[in-house]
Amino acid sequence: MTSEESVLAAVPKQLYIGGKWIDASGGATFEVEDPATGKALCSVADATADDARAALDAAVAAQAGWAATPPNERSEILHRAFLALGEQAEELALLMTLEMGKAVAESKGELAYAAEFFRWFSGEALRLDGYYKTTGNGASRVLVMRQPVGPCYFITPWNFPNAMGTRKIGPAIAAGCTMVVKPAQQTPLSMLALAKLLEECGLPPGVLNVITATGSGAVSEPIISDPRLRKLSFTGSTPVGKKLIAQAADQVLRVSMELGGNAPFLVFADADLDAAVDGAMLAKMRNMGEACTSANRFHVHESVADEFAAKLAARMGALTVGRGTESGTDVGPMIDAAQQDKVAELVDDAVAKGATVVTGGSKGDGEGYFYAPTVLTGVPQDAAVLNEEIFGPVAPIATFSTDEEAIAAANRTEYGLVAYVFTRDLQRAFRVCEALETGMIGLNQGIVSNAGAPFGGVKQSGTGREGGNEGIAEYLDTKYVAINVGS
Ligand code: NAD
Repeated sequence: MTSEESVLAAVPKQLYIGGKWIDASGGATFEVEDPATGKALCSVADATADDARAALDAAVAAQAGWAATPPNERSEILHRAFLALGEQAEELALLMTLEMGKAVAESKGELAYAAEFFRWFSGEALRLDGYYKTTGNGASRVLVMRQPVGPCYFITPWNFPNAMGTRKIGPAIAAGCTMVVKPAQQTPLSMLALAKLLEECGLPPGVLNVITATGSGAVSEPIISDPRLRKLSFTGSTPVGKKLIAQAADQVLRVSMELGGNAPFLVFADADLDAAVDGAMLAKMRNMGEACTSANRFHVHESVADEFAAKLAARMGALTVGRGTESGTDVGPMIDAAQQDKVAELVDDAVAKGATVVTGGSKGDGEGYFYAPTVLTGVPQDAAVLNEEIFGPVAPIATFSTDEEAIAAANRTEYGLVAYVFTRDLQRAFRVCEALETGMIGLNQGIVSNAGAPFGGVKQSGTGREGGNEGIAEYLDTKYVAINVGS
């Protein structure tokens, strides 16, 4: 068997419920496609609403025992999983590339990032503390304890099939919560493989349950409307996030929402332009631009815009587009035909409104959902490419002349996930960082993802933070006990 066949053969294709691998109750399956060829890789179980209920039943049944498990045991499981992700990186990276498309080197990068959440939260599990204090007068004392919120439901997207899982699973395990996870239907295999890895690392039955399904709404609704569910954490698009918040409102469920972005990339006249281009390559081309943190639009000072565009176009135009499994590939395919079409439409719209294509600007020929790395200049403000999340390898460049104009352009969006700022002027850097309406900023840096930092957005990019000291709080309830100690 080739290694592609062997990694596909090794991954379970069933639902993982209560520590057992089982078929969907209706017996149905669905095909997982290789976006580089458009051909089926294998089939996995297509869960029904009954399966979703069974998965929640299993999470609820495991909750009390899991919450009572000593934190150092939960920490050890996470640490073993951190090590196992490193040991199995070759196979897991190939599997991810097959179902998602990105180059194997990028899949390995994602796995390293994903594993960091297990390492970080393995430490956080040991630091779950409350406090006791005397406040006010008399015999009253304050005891504050922090307890797991209870069973959680996680819905994850296809663009980072492993890391978007570990960012939620890591803190839930650390805090003592059980969970049901539903990965995106385009990329279920990485999550199934992750469940197998956690099982092998000693995660008890029922703590993690995985349902794969084509009917995302049909399996999610019974879970979200069940009063035994205590938390919903979603990573995906803003429109779906809004629907889920509305569903969760009925139960006043705790929600964390990691939604879409429209990241501005600001280059000021005093910036180190080569460093800005390096940052732009990372912020734009990581994951083929299919990242919520992807630089979506470039606002460059008019005095350096031509030079920046030329340098960026030279670098982007030199990238090798191809199958992620082939050595030498920098840029894999878009996830599916719909995404490829959307990117093409945004570029065509910008060109129709007067933008110039400096490099790229077309779909690949032949099989697979490829799109050429593209730089557009002279992009007018009304072009959809400046206002919508592109989720592809397209860098639209617009110019500004004053700092105020740059800040106003950056904030002119309903999204607020991340912004990138390139300047060597310290005072300008702080002024701009304070004025930007985003949850994260890359200052002279093209990447913000870091398990030890609070990842998340403001405005319609979401609510809640994943990672950092803040990340564990999303999975803990605070209980205050007022104590009379007598006189
Ligand atoms: P999507 O919203 O279409 O799907 C995300 C998940 O939601 C998938 O598992 C999907 O099956 C599920 N889903 C879809 N409709 C549903 C419904 N009605 N009920 C329940 N579940 C439903 O998003 P996508 O296309 O998979 O991912 C891309 C989006 O995710 C982009 O907008 C991107 O910015 C965002 N994203 C955000 C972050 C972040 O941390 N902020 C990270 C990665 C991706």
